[in-house]
Amino acid sequence: MYEELLKKLQPRGVRLVVVSKTHPPERILELYRCGQRDFGENRVQELVQKASLLPNDIRWHLIGHLQTNKVRHVIPFVYMIHSVDSLRLMLEIEKHARSTGRIVDCLLQFHIAQEATKYGLTEQEAHDLLQSAEYAGLKHVRLCGVMGMATFTDDVDQIRAEFRHLRRIFEQLKEQYFAQAPYFRELSMGMSSDWSIAVEEGSTIVRIGSLIFGERN
Ligand SMILES: *Cc1c(COP(=O)(O)O)cnc(C)c1O
Repeated sequence: MYEELLKKLQPRGVRLVVVSKTHPPERILELYRCGQRDFGENRVQELVQKASLLPNDIRWHLIGHLQTNKVRHVIPFVYMIHSVDSLRLMLEIEKHARSTGRIVDCLLQFHIAQEATKYGLTEQEAHDLLQSAEYAGLKHVRLCGVMGMATFTDDVDQIRAEFRHLRRIFEQLKEQYFAQAPYFRELSMGMSSDWSIAVEEGSTIVRIGSLIFGERN
C-alpha cells in the first residue's frame, strides 16, 4: 500500500506523513529503509521516545494536541507542529525555540468537523490571533499553513465540503496575512479514510497511518 500511495501522491507534489503512533520503532525503520523520512506522532512522550531511538534525519511531525507544559520536550528536534490552536501555545513555542536557537515550523489547526470534541481554531479566533501584538512579536515561530480533520463519516459530500472550507480559510489567510511569505503554503488534510478527497481539494500534506500499518489496537 505504501508504494501505491506514493505513486499517487508524488506526481501531485503531495507530501506523505506516515502516522506511526502506537507502532514500534521496527515498523518505522522498515519504511525508513524504503526512503520514507516524514513520520507523524500525536503524543509527546511517544514522539520523544521514538526520536531518541531512530535515525536523526527523520522529519518528525507532531500532529496531536500539544499542551503548553510539554512544549519544551519537542522543540529541540521537531520538524513541524501541525496542531497550533492558541496564542498561549505559540508564545510557549516561541520561548523554547528562542532559547534553543531554532525557528520552528507550525501549522494553525482549524476546527472544520461537526464533531464537538476535535481541537482547533475558529476563523474568528485565527484573525484575532494573527492581528494581536503578541503574534507580531514572534520571531521563532514560522506559520507555514493550516491543518484540519474532517468529520468521521461516510458522507463524501460532507467531507469534501469541509476540506473545501479549510482550503478557503487557507487562501484567505494567505492573501490577508502571508502574501509576502512563500513558506505559507501547506494544507495538511487527509487521513486513511479520506486522503483522496483531500488531495482533490488541494491538500499538500496527507497524514496516513492505518492504511499503511493496518488498524491500530
Ligand atoms: C491518527 C491520526 C491520523 C492518521 O489516522 P489514520 O486513520 O490511521 O490514517 C491523522 N491525523 C491525526 C491528527 C491523527 O491523530
